[in-house]
Amino acid sequence: MANVLIIGAGGVGQVVAHKCAQVGEVFENITLASRTRSKCDRIADMLPRRIDTAEVDADDVPQLVKLIEKIKPDMVIHVALPYQDLHIMDACLETGVHYLDTANYEPPNEARFEYKWQWAYQDKFERAGLMALLGSGFDPGVTSVFTAYAKKHHFDRIRTLDILDCNAGDHGLPFATNFNPEINIREITANGRYWENGQWITTKPMEEKRVFDFPEGIGEKDLYLLYHEELESLSRHFPEIERARFWMTFGASYLTHLEVLQNVGMTSIEPIEFRGQKIAPIQFLKAVLPDPASLGPLTKGKTCIGNIVRGTKNGEEKIYYVYNTCDHQACYKEVQSQAISYTTGVPAMIGAKMMLEGKWMKPGVWNLEQLDPDPFMDDMNRYGLPWQETWLDKPFQ
Ligand code: NDP
Repeated sequence: MANVLIIGAGGVGQVVAHKCAQVGEVFENITLASRTRSKCDRIADMLPRRIDTAEVDADDVPQLVKLIEKIKPDMVIHVALPYQDLHIMDACLETGVHYLDTANYEPPNEARFEYKWQWAYQDKFERAGLMALLGSGFDPGVTSVFTAYAKKHHFDRIRTLDILDCNAGDHGLPFATNFNPEINIREITANGRYWENGQWITTKPMEEKRVFDFPEGIGEKDLYLLYHEELESLSRHFPEIERARFWMTFGASYLTHLEVLQNVGMTSIEPIEFRGQKIAPIQFLKAVLPDPASLGPLTKGKTCIGNIVRGTKNGEEKIYYVYNTCDHQACYKEVQSQAISYTTGVPAMIGAKMMLEGKWMKPGVWNLEQLDPDPFMDDMNRYGLPWQETWLDKPFQ
């Protein structure tokens, strides 16, 4: 039985703490630490069993080392922000502790969505006999596992991959983001990019649009092509893939708000001088937007995230669709969070469980598609993210 340190007490941290607390046979001791301790205490008070809490600034490696040495966890589950990835990885190396995160490292002043900084830690983790699992959320995370599962069980060769991320939930507010607004808006306002025939093709933000009829009563939704970090690791680990794209649904009103915010400069990550202080407009915007955690009780409807994989098996062309749907209100009832945090936090718990049970444990830095998808997919069914699979007769154009 294991001792874990969860860092980050936002929407995702709340779900990870709940789910780890539910799986007592694996996660025996849990400490939840974040920059603001009161947020950890608020979450601890909701849980069915006792966990410890602590305060830590995860940008400060000596502080992290001190906390890790005090708690002596088997691993750190990092669900603070992508800016802290390398600091926490450094602290894990210094203290001899395994590492897991849900988003690739981001330099604070550039939106890059690249794995190169973290992949550069491969030798260090391998030599130390430690494991770092990168991107164990839903996308990346489950979408990476879905791809590995499709390849393992259904295809000799994958030709195209389309990841479709649909949030059909409605919180009734004029404008809010479903997870950290700064990270979310940085992702959406960047150029789109996809992988085709060995190279990256760049598109303007929201330039490519498609409509897809989602299952389980969700119906037709508009999808827009975005760049998403798993495209980098999937195209590297499955070099046979001819084209890999990522799509996300957005409603017309959301896009209109975003366009206005962009036009007035509020989404910029470039700091400006304001009354003697330097401030990045997007950070100010984050401060005035609703806290994603507050959307939980308001949001109704479903999410549906999955992969459409086209390829061949025994010479025959096939189109496979594997997906999970989650109901916002059911998630809220279980862990007092909406489905976006839920669909990220559950895979973080399962990834940690895979490591601690030894099913995935191996030294080095790994993306999820490099590991056996089967035990992870089994646990998705057990712990609240049941998945479905079907065959399509038309390709996703
Ligand atoms: P939130 O903004 O809700 O929470 C972030 C938490 O991290 C807050 O508790 C915050 O503390 C804490 N934090 C920030 N900086 C520090 C620091 N320097 N030291 C310690 N704690 C810090 O974000 P979410 O919970 O929505 O997202 C968490 C992570 O999950 C992000 O990295 C996000 O990119 C990722 N994610 C991944 C997805 C996937 O599918 N793979 C999908 C959605 C999110 P404070 O409250 O004091 O600011």
